[in-house]
Amino acid sequence: MEKLRERVQQIKKKRPGYGEILGFYQKVREAQNKVKTSLKIKSIKLRKEWKELLTKEGFSLIQKEDFPLDIEASIKLFESLCQIGKDSNPHMAEQVRKIKETIDHKRIDLKKLLKEELKEQRIEQVANEFGLDNKVFSFLIQSSIKPSIEAGMEKLRNELDPETWLKEYCPICGSLPSLSLLKEEVGKRYLLCSFCGYQWRIDRLTCPFCGNKEQESIQYFFAEGEEPYRIELCDKCHQYIKTIDYRTLEESDPVLEDLATLHLDILASQKGYKRPVPNPWIT
Ligand SMILES: [Zn+2]
Ligand SMILES: [Zn+2]
Repeated sequence: MEKLRERVQQIKKKRPGYGEILGFYQKVREAQNKVKTSLKIKSIKLRKEWKELLTKEGFSLIQKEDFPLDIEASIKLFESLCQIGKDSNPHMAEQVRKIKETIDHKRIDLKKLLKEELKEQRIEQVANEFGLDNKVFSFLIQSSIKPSIEAGMEKLRNELDPETWLKEYCPICGSLPSLSLLKEEVGKRYLLCSFCGYQWRIDRLTCPFCGNKEQESIQYFFAEGEEPYRIELCDKCHQYIKTIDYRTLEESDPVLEDLATLHLDILASQKGYKRPVPNPWIT
């Protein structure tokens, strides 16, 4: 956490415009971290055939819904996040007020929503039903279960070899990547799972969304003076991924680095490319 705080200060000095969103990120991470130490997560029993399906058919080990959650801890965290949201920007504060009101009047059963209905469509349906901002509502729900998800991923990571999977989706939960990372001197490329945070290896010149390997249809750009951050555009599927080059940047939280370079996402979208997994922090 100390490292994260330092990095936030560093970035704020360089790009003051990001001060508010980075401050918000830091507070949320601190709240999530606090929960992590006392988390009670059931172990995940893997059936033998699951691992066979993984190696033979390329199925992910489990699905998003299979992660065991610590519901009590998630509810507590939800409360803390609502408080943080109230103190951030006016739109968030207003949304939090509405969400709390709906829950307090027992029109939403938060426990049930977290436990049984961990599906994006369900969250969207509930948000629509009660006139809530779907982005804020799902951000709060997803951020509340994040420590449980990360703990589950930690339990499963030893089942896999991150160097040999080489596919475009997460071997643990099947989700799409949110970022690509270059590491070690040779620049090995890894993808970061947008849901569970697992990292796995992939070829340098592959579009992580459609598998395109033709060099002439993959281009990239970066901003001057910001060489460690690169946007890779695929002309086959018209989607892009942001790459963080840790050969020239000290090891740090990739999600924080992603947030601190939102201007690159704006440029990519102006060029007509889409980000398959939208950044959940922009609400
Ligand atoms: Zn995953
Ligand atoms: Zn593509």
